[in-house]
Amino acid sequence: MRITDIVTTPVEINYRPEYQADKRFYPKSPEQTNVIVEVHTDTGLVGIGEAAHSPGVYGETAWQTIEGIEYLKPHLIGRDPLQINRLNIEIDRYSPVGNIAAKAGLDIAFHDLAGKIIGVPVYQLLGGRVHESVRTHITPATYEDTTSDLLALMGQGYRAFKQKMSGDTDYDIALVNSILDNIPEDVVLSIDVNQGWSVNQTLDIAGVLERRKTFPRNLILEQPIDGYDLAGAAEIRRATRIPLMLDDGIRTVSDLRNIIDARAADIVSLKISRVGGIQRCLQMIKMAEAANITYIVDEINEMRVANTAVAHLALASKRPLYTGVCCHLLLEQDVVTTGGVWIEDGAAFVNDKPGLGIDGLDLDKVRATRKAA
Ligand SMILES: [Mg+2]
Repeated sequence: MRITDIVTTPVEINYRPEYQADKRFYPKSPEQTNVIVEVHTDTGLVGIGEAAHSPGVYGETAWQTIEGIEYLKPHLIGRDPLQINRLNIEIDRYSPVGNIAAKAGLDIAFHDLAGKIIGVPVYQLLGGRVHESVRTHITPATYEDTTSDLLALMGQGYRAFKQKMSGDTDYDIALVNSILDNIPEDVVLSIDVNQGWSVNQTLDIAGVLERRKTFPRNLILEQPIDGYDLAGAAEIRRATRIPLMLDDGIRTVSDLRNIIDARAADIVSLKISRVGGIQRCLQMIKMAEAANITYIVDEINEMRVANTAVAHLALASKRPLYTGVCCHLLLEQDVVTTGGVWIEDGAAFVNDKPGLGIDGLDLDKVRATRKAA
């Protein structure tokens, strides 16, 4: 059994208009393109993966991913597709740093393929399912109408929300207060600053929110400052009782180890698409568990392929606070036509078919072409 070819297809990921709100701290590239990765074998079985992108935050573009996979391809063709560890070691040997989205797309495809070959779902390859479903967070649509949107989503069963910050401090404080006024204590809200504040600004704003009539026990402060400022994060953590989640600076196991060593986070956001695949993310989950740090198993701009991989990993994890697999619901279109993750009552479910359990894929619908500069 051998890998015979690896095929990449760039696909457009357009957010629905109501999700196009200005996110000043989250530089959105004009290019919204992901890459579908197909790993072919001499068995006729094909593994499907997705390399998701956020060039404004992580640098790598879809076109760099395609080049990265072309570069790695000669070292993977001819190898046994079931030896996922060997394949990842080979990838790291030729690309010890960088190519993170490329690595994630390949690793997701390897897992889908191995599951199809053995005849088990991906969660089974990860040691088996711990949960039947895992609560997922979702981002409400617009700043203008956040509260009514939240209430509608709560009506659908969602119990975890993420709100990006606009960059206007007074506006943001008012927005957070109005959301907190409208959600019960068992509904979690993370406010994601995407590194937009200074330490002092964070302490000021956290102080205002802490002094609400009742302390906001359901609030999470997500990545308020530079992702690599761990001394600053530790200072914030000591100064406020609002839990601090770190996210944007976690790309490698070293990054996570440094956060653990610096006691810089209450919660870490671990993302397959940002750490180079399922195996690397699994390793980080085990590290977080060993260090007694709460974690979420999260997404970046993902369609249903990568979102499904995230769901399998979250379901196989001991105690994720919640997961993030709703991004595909915010997009105009998706390559997946049938199968994969689904959401019911605010929680993520997967089927028990082999691999990711994705039955239908329509690449032509959203195939992207490289735009002229
Ligand atoms: Mg974030």
